[in-house]
Amino acid sequence: MTSTAKYIFVTGGVTSSLGKGIIAASLAKLLQAQGYRVTIQKLDPYINVDPGTLNPYEHGECYVTEDGAETDLDLGHYERFLNRPTSQANNVTTGRIYQSVIQKERRGEFLGKTVQVVPHITDEIKERIQILGKSGKYDIVITEIGGTVGDIESLPYVEAVRQLRWDLGDNNGIVIHLTLVPYLSAAGELKTKPTQHSVKTLMESGVQADILVCRTEHNLPSDLRRKLALFCNVKEDAVIQSIDASTIYDVPNLMLEEGLDKVVLRKLDLECTKPDIDQWNQFLKRHKNPKNEITIGLIGKYVELQDSYKSILEAFIHAGAENEVKVNIESVHSEYINQDNAELKLGHLDGVLVAPGFGERGIEGKIDAVRYVRENNVPFLGICLGMQMAVIEFARNVLNIKDADSVEINAETENPVIALMEDQKTVEDKGGTMRLGAWACDLKIGSKVRDIYKSESIAERHRHRYEFNGDYKEQFEAAGMKATGLNPDTGLVEIVELQDHPWFVGVQYHPEYKSTVANPHPLFVAFVKAALSSKKKKNATVSQNK
Ligand code: GLN
Repeated sequence: MTSTAKYIFVTGGVTSSLGKGIIAASLAKLLQAQGYRVTIQKLDPYINVDPGTLNPYEHGECYVTEDGAETDLDLGHYERFLNRPTSQANNVTTGRIYQSVIQKERRGEFLGKTVQVVPHITDEIKERIQILGKSGKYDIVITEIGGTVGDIESLPYVEAVRQLRWDLGDNNGIVIHLTLVPYLSAAGELKTKPTQHSVKTLMESGVQADILVCRTEHNLPSDLRRKLALFCNVKEDAVIQSIDASTIYDVPNLMLEEGLDKVVLRKLDLECTKPDIDQWNQFLKRHKNPKNEITIGLIGKYVELQDSYKSILEAFIHAGAENEVKVNIESVHSEYINQDNAELKLGHLDGVLVAPGFGERGIEGKIDAVRYVRENNVPFLGICLGMQMAVIEFARNVLNIKDADSVEINAETENPVIALMEDQKTVEDKGGTMRLGAWACDLKIGSKVRDIYKSESIAERHRHRYEFNGDYKEQFEAAGMKATGLNPDTGLVEIVELQDHPWFVGVQYHPEYKSTVANPHPLFVAFVKAALSSKKKKNATVSQNK
């Protein structure tokens, strides 16, 4: 099948962390808002087959798609902006490319030929890029090339783009190059030289950028835009400024003001109309004009790096806007929480979220945090490991099973209230072997979650190996911790709730992955609401006692 879609390649120059993902997502939003069916793909130049085995300190959180792919966090931005699910095909790494080429070689598919970077690796890259376009589901595919041009590891990708542009023909594939225009305060000047060099580097590989998006701290004056156009072989209206924004959600409007959508569609020979972004702007208005403010504690062990909990932070932005509440997030390192300082560290918070995670470090602090919020009626949301810690805490301090533990932490425990899932027992490989992706969950009548979701059955995304041990279910339920969400096929406990608590919910899945601007996640919306009412109640009591 031939490609029916048009392609936009986004490369990066000068430095990393310029926000290619946000630019790609913002452009996609504007194109989608004109009625085009758009998807975004990320190509990552590292050798890991996927980011699932990476520590969050490396590239931030691992994002999980409906079909169970462990992917780069940029896919989260794509979904949050476009409100459309992504899939395994939307994230490809060098490791996956090589794995596939080597498997083909072992099967003898190359008919005795020497297997080489060009053409075999580049062919595989081209095929992966076109899978989405050939599906017939999209009019436009935006492919973001990870890394910075000039990097050794990016070379095969740039070469694949060069070839593909040739294969696709005029007006069917364009290149947007994202660069930095630094401001030298000593000279009081914006500098274009790094951009000139990075465009030149791209040209050395045979790729001419069609559009420059220039990250900058100050407005680019027209003479500087002219200069960039002249030296970089682009039209003046194809020099787009991307000025620092107070929120990533402003970027689509900034790109609209700069006419990025217009230039792109002209170059792709597609019709350009006025994008309808009313709903987006309503969200922005609510986000920027909150009527109330709350502070939520995020208890985790990767808190030094904001990107580790990206989807959770974004889900709070969506839920905050929905409630017209500014949600301040206070990160609390779980390693430094204990029973003695819990009041000091958590006492002022309006709600507490215990984050997902792996391994032993910081575990006891999470358990002590749960104890504090349970005993003090602080709204609580536990996600994945956070839910497991809530179960352990309840077992130890309410059921009085003092040695209750997760097998992940203590393989020898006599009371494994959190146990390894049956089908995990034979698993040896670490990569791609967890319980991943969307699984169904039935919600119990009369439960808080059924009320929140307004549905009897949901599907949420997972990433875990351990589960609530069903042998203890009766005991937990009798003492007030109810299993209110169950997998319909296996009976696996997906949700626990405390009966005698204003708002205490633990979920084995990751609701944060499904929260988008257009569809804030109901659990986060309800949690923010509960935290706000808890704050109001607290304030009322304080003023009464004055
Ligand atoms: N480590 C736990 C498990 O594998 C929780 C995983 C998570 O929080 N994503 O079950």
